[in-house]
Amino acid sequence: MVFEGISKENASEILSEAKMILERYRSKDLILNMSRGKPCPEQIDLSSELFFSVNPDDCIGEEGVDCRNYGELSGIIEMKRVFSEILDIPVDKICIGGNSSLDLMFNTFSRAYTKGLPDSEKPWSKYDSIKFLCPVPGYDRHFAVSEYYGMEMINIPMLKTGPDMIMVENLVKENPSIKGIWCVPVFSNPDGCVYSDDTVERLAKMECAAKDFTIMWDASYKVHSLYDEEIEIANILEECEKYGNSNRALIFASTSKITHAGAGVVCIGGSKESIKAYLKTATISTIGYDKINMLRHARFLKNKAGVLSKMKKHAEILLPKFEMVNEIFSRNLDRYNIAGWTNPRGGYFISMNVFPGTAKRVYSLCKEAGVTLTSPGATFPYGYDPEDSNIRIAPTFPSVTELSDACEIISMAVIITAAEVYLNS
Ligand code: PLP
Repeated sequence: MVFEGISKENASEILSEAKMILERYRSKDLILNMSRGKPCPEQIDLSSELFFSVNPDDCIGEEGVDCRNYGELSGIIEMKRVFSEILDIPVDKICIGGNSSLDLMFNTFSRAYTKGLPDSEKPWSKYDSIKFLCPVPGYDRHFAVSEYYGMEMINIPMLKTGPDMIMVENLVKENPSIKGIWCVPVFSNPDGCVYSDDTVERLAKMECAAKDFTIMWDASYKVHSLYDEEIEIANILEECEKYGNSNRALIFASTSKITHAGAGVVCIGGSKESIKAYLKTATISTIGYDKINMLRHARFLKNKAGVLSKMKKHAEILLPKFEMVNEIFSRNLDRYNIAGWTNPRGGYFISMNVFPGTAKRVYSLCKEAGVTLTSPGATFPYGYDPEDSNIRIAPTFPSVTELSDACEIISMAVIITAAEVYLNS
């Protein structure tokens, strides 16, 4: 119960005090943009050596590839090996692409719609309707890609173990127009959820009415632990193979949040057949991706150990921020029982659930006080949160001082909106 054990008189005082505190912040004329999960400048600085990791007279890759020239559409072996070690996928089931994994995901749908995927009976454009499962809350840009292609998106609640598998299994068994599911299996955006092995296995083995059901396995945050621990979950490709569904999963990852965001390298992983199909289209769309950047990254990161040591440095910058958000929310909100938030062990976000029907108002109050949050509803397909409750907090980019101000402001906005609801009830 909201404000349990607190009289309306008391709640009214709490409301006045929160308004006063918010007003004080408003007069500071703050401009804090927390709408996207961007790395902060100190994180980006960790990879400055990238600019010096390749010399003009040493651009030949391990296999004799001159990285300044065309060729090697699937990418250079040394970068494949880095992703192979991180994701536990053999090098011959990996291709290295350009600078954005999201772009690779978008292109996968383009391929599915125009030609179909290896197990497709026909291109997706030939169906009257295509549906896609969207675990919620989820990543807004995944949903934007589905929306762009005109897919009908179906919300799947996220549980502590990943998407609600009973719902997923029931839906996909019955409905051949459901062509796939978006998954961020490690430190999901925004919940920070890590899928259980049981969830991974069930996704791999479940009976699907659509033969070409596709798991869009976005491993963006695979190595993004805030603590000194490695997250290992069941291997989706191996599980799919085990159950005779080798082509079901496509794996995506990038170094956007390891080295330089939007200037890193990306990979796609899948069965040999999926990789062959990918290359067949890639050879039409490009003569080759930026191998100088691949070489730069391979020499800078070296191997999995190299990546993990960089991620440790990221964590040193990020953990105090995540801890601070938790501390400020706990101090301000715990006693009123008016909001819940995640305390993830990795990833880029904290997912907050405020009193149903108030997320939009919380967003507006924050905005008036100079804090721009991710738009309410963004974590749901079509930008529509049926409960108007979820708020995505992106603590990585602001400085510690800015973040502290922002969390105080968010706390006050949450108190104000909940108190208004309580007083009007
Ligand atoms: N996938 C997820 C889950 C993300 O949160 C992000 C960025 O925030 C991306 C993909 C984008 O990755 P890239 O820069 O490789 O396109």
